[in-house]
Amino acid sequence: MILPEYDGRCGWYELLENVSAFPALEGDARFDTVIVGGGFVGTAAARRLAQNCPDERVLLIDALKLGQGASGRNSGFVIDQPHKRDLERADDPFKRKIVRLNRIAMEHLEQQIADFGIDCQWSHAGKYQGAVGPRGLKFLAHYEQLLRNFGESYERLSGAELRAVLGTDYYSAAIFTPGGVLMQPAALMRGLADSMPANVRVVENTPVQEIRRQTQGFTLKTPTSTLSCRRIVLATSIFTAELGFKKDRILPVMTFASMTRPLTDAEMACFGGQLDWGLTPADHAGTTMRMTQDRRLIIRNSYRYAPEYNTPAAILPKIRARHREGLDQRYPALKEVEIVYTWGGATSLSANFETYFGQLDEGIYSSGCDQSVGAARGTVSGLMLADMMCGKNTEALRDMQEVSGNPSCLPPKLLLRVGVPLRMALARFASRSEL
Ligand SMILES: Cc1cc2nc3c(=O)[nH]c(=O)nc-3n(C[C@H](O)[C@H](O)[C@H](O)COP(=O)(O)OP(=O)(O)OC[C@H]3O[C@@H](n4cnc5c(N)ncnc54)[C@H](O)[C@@H]3O)c2cc1C
Repeated sequence: MILPEYDGRCGWYELLENVSAFPALEGDARFDTVIVGGGFVGTAAARRLAQNCPDERVLLIDALKLGQGASGRNSGFVIDQPHKRDLERADDPFKRKIVRLNRIAMEHLEQQIADFGIDCQWSHAGKYQGAVGPRGLKFLAHYEQLLRNFGESYERLSGAELRAVLGTDYYSAAIFTPGGVLMQPAALMRGLADSMPANVRVVENTPVQEIRRQTQGFTLKTPTSTLSCRRIVLATSIFTAELGFKKDRILPVMTFASMTRPLTDAEMACFGGQLDWGLTPADHAGTTMRMTQDRRLIIRNSYRYAPEYNTPAAILPKIRARHREGLDQRYPALKEVEIVYTWGGATSLSANFETYFGQLDEGIYSSGCDQSVGAARGTVSGLMLADMMCGKNTEALRDMQEVSGNPSCLPPKLLLRVGVPLRMALARFASRSEL
């Protein structure tokens, strides 16, 4: 069984100060619900379940420290608009449901941040979708058309207008959508962990190695304890398959990011752009960029099929060199600004771009295959799973069920090992002007 590993390389997590510690769990323990996995899905499900049922004893357990998994390793965009594939659907009510659900997630996170004073650079900065060359411009025109048809507000910016914000004339044009939020993901995850309701126990660095159904409920084995419970939430993303569910349906894909040290005053003057913006590529195989509130540039690109789920250290120097090149092309005057962190993170895709949500088996609930937009989608999935488990029948829950589907069966692993890297290499080649 493959378990999550932390590689000590994620800039967001490594920059945190005074990370809290939760007491370990030893021996036998009983809970009403055990939530395995403390990412966006798990933290939202734990909080909502504890609030829905104040007498319920909930355990939120993770193999790593909360914030070390994908939910603390991402690019920090909380996006309200549907993913491109969903936006392309003709069905307007379907898209409206996705936007409503994403906004529920944003409001929920914003409420926790306000209530508990979570310091995570949360900012309504919006999002730029940028094009570099003719290929990117074609994608951008398509995206603009989709947004216009859908009736969502946006603004189109020229290369010159972008220069004033991004500090580079690398981009020819971008679409700005105002609804997106930026944040420091590891800081957000730690803040959520530290502010759980009293009836949620948080346990970290403790992998669940086995789940067994009993006559009544379940037992879960960890290296130091045996847990029993009535029901389980599998908020384990790609690792759900390792626990015996959704096998051959979840495609584990890794993507990579690098972060620079903060720019000095002189370098900021040279940069000439603004702080606190985020840009995703018009061509999805392109590059994501951010400038943080604390003057760090972040670059993300490159995909990899990741059947081992974790980051092989040997490939990181090559990725860092690629990121260096991407920064130098955009900011030739900032070649002295070192990259100080490079990391990878794996997320769950499905072959047919469908997500899943609901009861996997009696007493076992889960959601996944969020197609790499899990900050909003994972959060609202966790909330809705908790509502479903408590017998609530809300419009949002019905929407969630309607926009979720069934990930299709993947081809055999051997084929995936050859086919997925090949497809990614082709996509990378086709999109080389947008990197
Ligand atoms: C580099 C990168 C950039 C990204 N950028 C964005 C972005 O800007 N915006 C966005 O919306 N999405 C982004 N994503 C995707 C996003 O991070 C994921 O969609 C999201 O984090 C998934 O959340 P989750 O709660 O489902 O899973 P995860 O965050 O993966 O949480 C699952 C948890 O389960 C735990 N676990 C697994 N197995 C076990 C076990 N056996 N026992 C105990 N615990 C276990 C893991 O340790 C992990 O903490 C990005 C991803 C990456 C890698």
